[in-house]
Amino acid sequence: MNSLLAPVEAADDKLHEECGVFAVCAKKDSAPSVDPVHVVLGGLTALQHRGQESSGIILGGFEDPARIEVAKSAGLVASLIDSGDVLRLDREGATVALGHVRYSTTGGSGVENAQPLVAHTKKGAVALAHNGNLVNSQLLRELLEEGGSVFRTQSDSEVMLNLIARSLAKKSALEAVRDAVRTVQGSYALAVLADGKLIAARDKNGIRPLCVGELGEYWVVSSETCALDAIGAKFLRDVEPGEIIVADGEGIAGSNQEEKTETRTCSFEYIYFARPDSVIDGIGVYGARVRSGHQLFKEAPVKADLVTGVPDSGIPAAAGFSEASGIPYGMSLVKNRYVGRSFIAPNQDDRERRVALKHNALKEAVKGMRIVLIDDSIVRGTTMRSLVSKLKGAGATEVHIRIAAPPVAFPCYFGIDTPYREDLVSNKYDIEELARRVGADSLAFLSVEGLVQALSGTMGFCTGCFTGVYPMGAPKPGRED
Ligand code: AMP
Repeated sequence: MNSLLAPVEAADDKLHEECGVFAVCAKKDSAPSVDPVHVVLGGLTALQHRGQESSGIILGGFEDPARIEVAKSAGLVASLIDSGDVLRLDREGATVALGHVRYSTTGGSGVENAQPLVAHTKKGAVALAHNGNLVNSQLLRELLEEGGSVFRTQSDSEVMLNLIARSLAKKSALEAVRDAVRTVQGSYALAVLADGKLIAARDKNGIRPLCVGELGEYWVVSSETCALDAIGAKFLRDVEPGEIIVADGEGIAGSNQEEKTETRTCSFEYIYFARPDSVIDGIGVYGARVRSGHQLFKEAPVKADLVTGVPDSGIPAAAGFSEASGIPYGMSLVKNRYVGRSFIAPNQDDRERRVALKHNALKEAVKGMRIVLIDDSIVRGTTMRSLVSKLKGAGATEVHIRIAAPPVAFPCYFGIDTPYREDLVSNKYDIEELARRVGADSLAFLSVEGLVQALSGTMGFCTGCFTGVYPMGAPKPGRED
């Protein structure tokens, strides 16, 4: 099913997870002087945007391979830090630490699903932190269960952990991870503790980002470069698609384990998900967003007095649109940073209430103005409807919406949280109807070609949520509730 690039039928429109992984491994077999817990918690805090539902850290690589120290908490990394579990971690002698932040779906946000996941084998403790989504995990789970495996969570990550733990009985840590990644299909950026080593792996399409850095006595693995910056680590390189990297007291080495295939990094990482100060596969996220604003102006110019972005992820593209159009950029909306995530609220009423609380229009900036309002994406349309009504209520004479991404009309099977297909407004309405429904004077989206050009034009990206064409086959058809 490699690189089929075939359209997928309306299938498992299940919400999926987005997550962040961060890990360190001591460069020598002896435990380093810098506290690995501080380093990992710092990294996780910088990856907080990738997951706010739960967080966790494990310590391993002790002289006793069976020993593992675990601290997990529901909520933000700050809750983990304050939980007391972290203080109780006995870090003396630990040479590997793995951390994870989890952005769960509408269900299962409890601490029982928090990662890293841990298993015990006769070769010692194994732990795994996973970002991504496996598309054949259900089938693998059934096969493993038939063989006697018992699972504690519903998570696809536990399937991966189980596969690694089984192989580890007879094989090296590298071989065990290699066996597992050859068995699974889907997206993964992994940090694994096995046999006292830190192993990082990225799926063969490179759908989720993963990079390697160095901080004094440690090798570092992180979902994004912004977390390396946050702890003062030096960026070494991205993990290549299909590559497995092993770090231990002897050094760090990578090897390509998967057959070569096309890179298909998730375009939504650049559009919305990653932090703008991160660089993924050599492409700065901020620059990509600004260029998408330039491109958006080229594709859908409009006469207006003010260009403005929806905070936070619409702002770089708005700066780009302003630069390209010569229309001045300014603020029009103030965001309340303390309102929880409106996006995953379980029902539409709740989402609307939260969105209503989230932004206020700046009357003195918008009164009498023709406004170009830029956002990164429209998914259900809840945010846009609310914002247009607020801007008009504050006296804007025209509101022209420009979206720095194509219409999201298909679900993501590879780790971005998209709603059921029937809830995606771009799947239901054409652009004119959508403009009417959100109350805009005009509405335009970036084209898929324009997006790819803004990203770089040279390498491949997954644009499945816009086109329905995915890097590999998606799960079995039929909505899963
Ligand atoms: P909606 O209100 O449903 O149209 O959602 C669109 C808004 O949610 C945009 O302003 C995006 O910044 C944000 N967004 C898009 N995708 C996601 C996602 N997977 N998780 C959380 N927020 C998102």
